[in-house]
Amino acid sequence: MTTAQKLSFDVQLSDHARTAAEREQVLASPGFGQVFTDHMISIDYTEGEGWHDARLQPYGPLVLDPATSVFHYAQELFEGLKAYRQANGSIVTFRPYANAARFNASCLRMAMPELPEDTFVESLELLTQTDRDWVPTSEGHSLYLRPFIIATQVGLGVNYPSKTYKYMVIASPAASYFAGGVKPVSVWLSTDYTRAAPGGTGAAKCGGNYAAAFVAQREAVAQGCDQVVWLDSHEHRYVEEMGGMNLFFVFGNKLVTPALTGTLLPGITRDSILSMAADLGLEAEEGRISIEEWQAGCESGTLTEVFACGTAAVVTPVGSVKGADRAWTIGDGTPGPVTLKIREELLGIQYGTRPDTHHWIHKIS
Ligand SMILES: *Cc1c(COP(=O)(O)O)cnc(C)c1O
Repeated sequence: MTTAQKLSFDVQLSDHARTAAEREQVLASPGFGQVFTDHMISIDYTEGEGWHDARLQPYGPLVLDPATSVFHYAQELFEGLKAYRQANGSIVTFRPYANAARFNASCLRMAMPELPEDTFVESLELLTQTDRDWVPTSEGHSLYLRPFIIATQVGLGVNYPSKTYKYMVIASPAASYFAGGVKPVSVWLSTDYTRAAPGGTGAAKCGGNYAAAFVAQREAVAQGCDQVVWLDSHEHRYVEEMGGMNLFFVFGNKLVTPALTGTLLPGITRDSILSMAADLGLEAEEGRISIEEWQAGCESGTLTEVFACGTAAVVTPVGSVKGADRAWTIGDGTPGPVTLKIREELLGIQYGTRPDTHHWIHKIS
């Protein structure tokens, strides 16, 4: 695109929006990612022309040719963030420019066009403002925002990326992600499967990473565990992530999280916890943890807590670990004080009950 002309959104309001009573019924028990608001965002991209046809329109199905590229070659990626209703009534998001930057980093890896960061954030603002009555008021609930981009070129040629794309945002009211709140999860160490290898797409938030992960998640459940833990692709020894969340290891007063080697997804929650640790009197560093160190640390008592973090489930304690030839408990298996303190602090900033000293809160309305 040669002109730096700002996109303006065409607004088409729904004539079949749900009534207040219908909406309240959903908001009483929203689940996660089950029900969507009345509108959605769509922006199209054409090679040579750039981004065009930005619009807010009624939520509804897409009509796509069966030969559309995304169905065959999975050129697709997404983002995930939340809009929160704060104590004073304002609606905010948390670090949306960090999501915009990660969206573009993922686009580069998947040979897709970048979207200007301001347009990304404006699209979230427009949808959230339009559907603001869908932002839940119940404690701990939020409106989950799901931006994504798909390749829309029709044809089965595999030797080049699509020349056309569609960016969209949909929104869904959300209760807490794991039913049952801060109940610790049990994890399964996956040694038969790999999520990401060096040079692959592990750092991009692409749907293909999830498609390849379901079989391991199903194995974890068959082993009686809640979630899969991914290890490095080479030795299946060093810890990378838990399902769709990053991991932190607590050694007394020190947090250690696996370094971003290129095979991990760079979580914004992870980055926020690294930044706010000092505020809570904790040390924090990026490092490397093997499953042997994890088990030995729990057995000797130096490794006191482990938690997973991500936008959807915030901070979730890990209570026990199982692998093909080993199993152990972390601490006494209950949520530890450091995990709970970090969770409270993060939720406090997001819901406006704690000061936002890092300037992470972005007001929407
Ligand atoms: C989205 C995601 C995360 C968490 O990222 P946040 O920005 O903290 O929500 C971690 N791991 C994977 C694989 C993810 O897709």
